Amino acid sequence: MPSSYDWRFILTPEEILKEIAEQTQVCMKCNLHYSRKNAVPGVGNPEAKVLFIGEGPGFHENEQGLPFVGAAGTFLDELLGDAGLTREGVFITNVVKCRPPGNRDPQVEELDACKPYLERQIAAINPDVIVTLGRFSMGHFINNGKISSIHGMEFWSHGRMVIPMYHPAAALHQPSLRSVVKDDFSKLPALIEKAQESRKGESYLYDAADISQTENPAEENDAEQLSLF
Ligand code: URA
Ligand code: SF4
Repeated sequence: MPSSYDWRFILTPEEILKEIAEQTQVCMKCNLHYSRKNAVPGVGNPEAKVLFIGEGPGFHENEQGLPFVGAAGTFLDELLGDAGLTREGVFITNVVKCRPPGNRDPQVEELDACKPYLERQIAAINPDVIVTLGRFSMGHFINNGKISSIHGMEFWSHGRMVIPMYHPAAALHQPSLRSVVKDDFSKLPALIEKAQESRKGESYLYDAADISQTENPAEENDAEQLSLF
């Protein structure tokens, strides 16, 4: 760090997240702002070790400005409990911060437009583990991943463990997935411990623009894992 660095201009993770939240409320970078009542930038611990990334706000989230407050949220709470986690301890956000009309899929332009907010959140929170919920969130980190074959597995993105999970809403629509998702979540504590062990002693400071899929230098079997797709 250069000695001329002025610490008065360094924002805390909490301040950065607050700034992002304010920006999303008035953002007009994609068409989703037309259907926005409240942006849903995400909530939780600004220094969470685990970051959950869903798809986008639904009806109730748009009304309240909070992530996962509808039926999928109730199931997510149960899943967090299975993993010994609480909402207050983790951070929960989405790949798009405004509600797609009628809960349609977010489009490529919308995902691209909203990406810088997510990347800045990741850089600010600096989590050890990122859990993606659903295919759009998985697609942010893993190209051409097939959720049915890679759910619950560990991948690495700039020294962070990324674990793709089924979206909780998928399990609500398809009851046979319920036990699969619960099983994946129950394995989270061991994976979190492994990720923290792997990052120990490393001071990863991320450039918000520099989040892409890479191998974890601490892992030798990555190449094997990544060759799956
Ligand atoms: N589904 C999501 O992906 N995100 C939410 O915030 C709510 C439901
Ligand atoms: Fe802006 Fe993201 Fe909302 Fe689009 S979805 S208007 S990019 S905050």
